Amino acid sequence: SYEERGPPSKQELGRSAWTLLHTLAANFPEGATPRQRARAETFVRALGGLYPCAACAAHFREYMAAHPVQAASRQELSLWLCGAHNAVNRRNGKEDFYCDMGVLDARWKDCGCEKNASLA
Ligand code: FAD
Repeated sequence: SYEERGPPSKQELGRSAWTLLHTLAANFPEGATPRQRARAETFVRALGGLYPCAACAAHFREYMAAHPVQAASRQELSLWLCGAHNAVNRRNGKEDFYCDMGVLDARWKDCGCEKNASLA
């Protein structure tokens, strides 16, 4: 039942957050409208203020100050997030992920979901 487990660890929270972010990016429009672009950039920036791990959020804001989030297209947002995630990987002594659209799509694109009409 739902009551059997407690809150997520920092690692689980991170995996879940990256899953949402990379999957959202992989399914973002190839050429976003100004409204779609603003929505995605606002969403990512807002995470810097809302992410519950304080050190993670601070690092993320620092990263965004040096590399402003870019979401004019699916490729731009996907590659930006890949770079942001690699910055965390490096800090944690992990390998870089290869930031290539083919590799990113194979890992993140098809969630088996029906297409969101507001992303058309
Ligand atoms: P994760 O790093 O969670 O990755 C999950 C999967 O994503 C991997 O198995 C791989 O298939 C794929 N992947 C890996 N790298 C990339 C990439 N570059 N692009 C696309 N896909 C990729 N933890 C800290 O300890 N310190 C921090 O400062 C910190 N900051 C964070 C900031 C944010 C915004 C987020 C979302 C998380 C942060 N985390 C931080 C958590 C950390 O990034 C990991 O999520 C956590 O350590 C669990 O790691 P993991 O090895 O399970 O895989």
